[in-house]
Amino acid sequence: MGKSSDGKASDGKGSMKSKIEPVSLTGASTEELLRELLVRLGEDPEREGLLRTPERMSRALQYLTKGYQEDPEELLKGAMFTVDYDEMVIVKDVEMFSLCEHHILPFFGKVHVAYIPKGKVIGLSKIPRLIDAFARRLQVQERLTTQIAECIQNAIKPEGVGVVIEARHLCMMMRGVEKQHSSAVTSSMLGSFREQQQTRDEFLALIRQKSSNGF
Ligand SMILES: [Zn+2]
Repeated sequence: MGKSSDGKASDGKGSMKSKIEPVSLTGASTEELLRELLVRLGEDPEREGLLRTPERMSRALQYLTKGYQEDPEELLKGAMFTVDYDEMVIVKDVEMFSLCEHHILPFFGKVHVAYIPKGKVIGLSKIPRLIDAFARRLQVQERLTTQIAECIQNAIKPEGVGVVIEARHLCMMMRGVEKQHSSAVTSSMLGSFREQQQTRDEFLALIRQKSSNGF
């Protein structure tokens, strides 16, 4: 292993590579790369059902990673309002779909966001959009959770922010490993949500309320 039959040098791990791929992949279109991927998986990209798959897959991947084109902080600008209200604002059960960066397989679930304003609130409809901007990227659940919390913290400087994500990971469920861990809960607590147990408990109790109603 390690050398191709035509005698060209292959640098270590490239014994399979050198036979099939051109010297550089940068000239290949995304569709060409995906078509090649189908071949590598043992498929025939010429069969009817697969003919347009590279094109569709390319578009799907672009859509699922469109968060890279969005600036979450910019998104919140123009959606911040001055208020006297200083009780907890909570937006819960927001649907979330993301791709795990280790396997490029979906993880999905619900996001719960809460904060206690200190003079400013965010338009409620912006919270799901903010979640999307971070979720439509290659992610790990822990980082997604932290990024949402920190973005809100930086934008409106509230007393505190809490974010909880409950998600199921297809990379675990479909690959048949660690199925018992296929559902993961992550949280990020900042400010008063970190420092005051009462605030944290109130948030967690509000999240749980709905599931006991059967929703
Ligand atoms: Zn994964």
